[in-house]
Amino acid sequence: MPARDNRRPAYISRSSLQTLLDRLVSAGYACLGPTAKDGAIQYQPINNLNQLPRGLRNDQEPGHYRLRQADDERLFAWNHGPQVLKPLCFAPQEVVWQERQTESGMSVKQSMPATKPTAVIGVRACDLAALKIQDQHFMRKDSTDPHYQARRDQLLLIGVDCAESAQTCFCASTGDGPALDGGFDIGLAELADGFLIWTASARGTPWIEELDQQPATDDQLAEMLQATENAAAGQSRHLPNEKKLTQLYQRLGHSRWLDLSKRCLSCGNCTSVCPTCFCYSYEHHTAITGDSAEVVRSWDSCFSATHSEMGSFQVRSGIDQRYRQWATHKLAGWQEQFGRSGCVGCGRCISWCPVGIDLTEEVQVILNEGSRDV
Ligand code: SF4
Ligand code: SF4
Repeated sequence: MPARDNRRPAYISRSSLQTLLDRLVSAGYACLGPTAKDGAIQYQPINNLNQLPRGLRNDQEPGHYRLRQADDERLFAWNHGPQVLKPLCFAPQEVVWQERQTESGMSVKQSMPATKPTAVIGVRACDLAALKIQDQHFMRKDSTDPHYQARRDQLLLIGVDCAESAQTCFCASTGDGPALDGGFDIGLAELADGFLIWTASARGTPWIEELDQQPATDDQLAEMLQATENAAAGQSRHLPNEKKLTQLYQRLGHSRWLDLSKRCLSCGNCTSVCPTCFCYSYEHHTAITGDSAEVVRSWDSCFSATHSEMGSFQVRSGIDQRYRQWATHKLAGWQEQFGRSGCVGCGRCISWCPVGIDLTEEVQVILNEGSRDV
């Protein structure tokens, strides 16, 4: 059974979903929804369902992403584009501290972001699983990142079951989709002529209570379940189970890492589009007057040349070492840190790799061919 949350859905028409959007806008929410922009699905500010990608599908393959128009009215039949939820809480670049010289000495001030309630419509199961991992990293009991938390507290997440999978999706093998399974406030399953809707948190409940709802019929419930089963069955890629993934540590000398380094550009696209990657770096920007400075935090990538720099020494100077670091940390090391692998099977690193490197293929070769040490 792909729907693993305790959902009790009701049926609403498409116009009722517009009513929900109107209410959120009236209540002062910034509403982000999927739109077709620059040839890809991207979350943008919306206030009308007509801005959503009606009838759009996507074709995704290694190094390939294209939108395609289908002859129907579905608003959520696409799979994710390059955007992830990550920047909504973990900003790509932000000032975290400001320092100023005063007559009495140096004043240091934390720079907190301006936030407002933000509803995100159309979030997928894999991205919610990724957000949970980001929460684990940035909101630890012993040390919470205030910038992340300030934004995270403002999010209202409206999830949608995936009724189709892209060719690059493998969330069924990681256990993170295609059906919603927690981490959201309001759930939706799109039917041919409307939606099934259910609440999944106390925060989500008031928003759907007054919508014009009808009890879901048995046929509608069956359609909802069948859709996610079909999406799971349509996935041809997979990752091995987590126990097997820890064997990557026994393949550190595998010749495939060197083979990869001849193809990989070390561009870092895969880490930028990955919803779980959380590496960052700090820079001190001092004003030309010398009396003030800012500490700026920016996304970093284990593929960047400076990421492993210690003094004047690069710990991972070769691309083979960088790819190996990324894959072994994400798939094996995270299991010790977070109790699970860091891959939710979204497949973005495959679609958006300019040379079409497929993580699932690389991992299977490295794990299955035995150790071909170099
Ligand atoms: S695997 Fe692909 S996306 Fe990632 S750094 Fe290498 S070339 Fe870039
Ligand atoms: S490693 Fe690739 S498939 Fe896995 S979560 Fe990151 S982008 Fe998605």
